[in-house]
Amino acid sequence: MQETHRTNPLFAGIEAGGTKFVCAAGSGPDDLRAEVQFPTTTPQETLGRVVDFLHNVQRAHGPLTAIGVAAFGPLDPNPASPTFGYITSTPKSGWAHTDFVGALRQHFDLPIAFDTDVNGAALGEWRWGAAQGLDTFIYLTIGTGIGGGGMVRGHLLHGLIHPEMGHIRIAQQDSFAGICPYHGNCLEGLAAGPAIEHRWGEKAENLPPEHPAWDVEADYLAQALHTFICTLSPQRIILGGGVMNQRHLFPRIRQRVQHSLNGYVQSPAILRAIDQYIVPPALGKRAGVLGAMALAESTVS
Ligand code: ADP
Ligand code: ZN
Repeated sequence: MQETHRTNPLFAGIEAGGTKFVCAAGSGPDDLRAEVQFPTTTPQETLGRVVDFLHNVQRAHGPLTAIGVAAFGPLDPNPASPTFGYITSTPKSGWAHTDFVGALRQHFDLPIAFDTDVNGAALGEWRWGAAQGLDTFIYLTIGTGIGGGGMVRGHLLHGLIHPEMGHIRIAQQDSFAGICPYHGNCLEGLAAGPAIEHRWGEKAENLPPEHPAWDVEADYLAQALHTFICTLSPQRIILGGGVMNQRHLFPRIRQRVQHSLNGYVQSPAILRAIDQYIVPPALGKRAGVLGAMALAESTVS
């Protein structure tokens, strides 16, 4: 048994999103042995379903090696903090100050990794996807909100708490007030999916590629990338999330980033090979849950 455990590990990944949870178990994208999804409701009900999933996995496939949680936030990812493993000040109804890891520890005496959804997705892309072989890169999601995570010199980005790349200030093109409850017209307040819908009176997925909304969106995202390139010097930038299903945004953003940096950052990655520098996630729809599995794996590797 012990030998099987070591050579054939079983990692559980919990992608905890604001609208749905995705749970999977296995050892990587080519070895997914279980996967379930359910809507995010109350913490008690939702975490109960997570615990049921983990018990079912153990019954069907044997002992788990570790659990990884990649969650919406803000959250506390610092193992030395008294509130490690908590979702903290989230505006999501009922979830503020939820002891996520504590709820799992009541049932499982296993290593549990806990990080932001975007740090998880970044780690998954590093392990199996678009960031393999790099040590400094970022992953941004442009969806219901905007969030950024990533790695610097091989370490996932943490600090005082964790980065909040969606809440930077940018130069605005019009007088739309923005919809971030904290900052109004921060990047997320102007450029996340719901902000596009508010600004233009139509769901982002229904706006055609020639709609003026997309030039504005590309401008805002390019401004943000200019800032992140100049602050973190990432070797690559991965852009995921529902809004980036608008694939025409990629060339527009790349061109604007080059224009905005104006030759100042002297790297062929930006000057000549920007198509490989600003890229979509390679793990597609599974980026989130595979990221959570990669977090689990990181507790033992
Ligand atoms: P979440 O951020 O909740 O995990 P998503 O990444 O799917 O979920 O983001 C949802 C947001 O993305 C919504 O605001 C939605 O309008 C927008 N969205 C989803 N699909 C598309 C699309 N094909 N084109 C543009 N926007 C989209
Ligand atoms: Zn904000």
